[in-house]
Amino acid sequence: MREGYDVMQVCVNGHQINSSAQSMPQFNQPFCDQCGAETITACPECRTPIPGYYYASGVLSVSRVPVPNNCTQCGVAYPWRQATLASAVEIFELELDGQDASDAAALLPLIASDNPRTEVAALKLKRLMSKMAKPAYDITIKVISDLASETAKKTFGMKP
Ligand SMILES: [Zn+2]
Ligand SMILES: [Zn+2]
Repeated sequence: MREGYDVMQVCVNGHQINSSAQSMPQFNQPFCDQCGAETITACPECRTPIPGYYYASGVLSVSRVPVPNNCTQCGVAYPWRQATLASAVEIFELELDGQDASDAAALLPLIASDNPRTEVAALKLKRLMSKMAKPAYDITIKVISDLASETAKKTFGMKP
């Protein structure tokens, strides 16, 4: 058995179809059985295959491979990630005033990854979101918990 990454097939909404799309193509599907969306096996931007199951010689692992957030070759967010980002921005525009909404939207990419500014960004976003009404706040927290890095989740007081 060769060593290295297989290819992952994922629907554009982020449901994993097959983490061994190359070696076990019999499990591939053109459409998602959960949501009906089309499936992809490569980054829509740069066509790099989505990394799936990792084959190491002599090791058989049954652990599930998580669906990645960003393309490792071009850094662009995969479609499912972009959809979540877009819904968060939409809520901000609905629930916050102009300047606050654009400030909050600008903080999103910073809380979506672990970087030196994540904690400060999460703190600022938390403050902006405290201006929202409770129902909107609750929805936003749900959307953001899909995006937030571990560091950001801690700052938000979310359960990891
Ligand atoms: Zn799906
Ligand atoms: Zn790419």
